[in-house]
Amino acid sequence: MPRLRSLLAALALTLPGAVVVTAATTAPAHADECYSWTRNLSSGASGADVAELQVRVAGWAGYGVNMGIDGSYGPQTVAAVRNFQSAHGLGPDGVAGPATYAKIYALQDADCTPAHFSYAEVDGGCGAGGYSGGSVPAAQVKENLKRAMWRAEALRQRMGNVPLTVTSGFRSQACDRQVGGSGTGQHTYGNAIDLVGASFCSLAQNARSNGFGGIYGPGYPGHDDHVHVDIRAGRSWSAPTCGI
Ligand SMILES: [Zn+2]
Repeated sequence: MPRLRSLLAALALTLPGAVVVTAATTAPAHADECYSWTRNLSSGASGADVAELQVRVAGWAGYGVNMGIDGSYGPQTVAAVRNFQSAHGLGPDGVAGPATYAKIYALQDADCTPAHFSYAEVDGGCGAGGYSGGSVPAAQVKENLKRAMWRAEALRQRMGNVPLTVTSGFRSQACDRQVGGSGTGQHTYGNAIDLVGASFCSLAQNARSNGFGGIYGPGYPGHDDHVHVDIRAGRSWSAPTCGI
């Protein structure tokens, strides 16, 4: 009954509300020692795996966009994935699949930090090490530092893979006061890192496109010898010498 079969096939294709099942990939998912995605993600998706993706692409969301890590694949996530794909020589379709994940895996260390930044260089300031004594619990400090490092990785790549060095990352509240801070600043949340390694103005100017809510550089008091970037919600940018 070829006619009936084709009629049924046509119905299946056009039936309103029919669930479209995409063919399962035959190749096993790439296993990565830190974190592996098990499905393609695109606009409208939600879940913890979307949040993991957002952490890694938030530095590519665009000028002045400080993307929330909310597990919802919305327009900012689409834009971030597109820009990440373009920066890595992939077709920019805004859909995260095996090729995009492969690029992320290549950038990802075993502890989920990006390739060119590590916990060792962002842990406790003032020589104490560790992540305690801050404004949020140590686990949140580490998560925030990871998010800041992924944005710094994007900044580094945007600037032509120039090696950037962290001069200060997490500070306990006591450490923050010791270095002249308020004791409750962004460094005490693990949100902030201070960078050197390139022209400070170039760093500050580029950082505006890498998801940083806070940027302080040349001309802002105390910031003529490094650029401070942080992932606070909202925006606080100041580097008057650089036109910011
Ligand atoms: Zn700072």
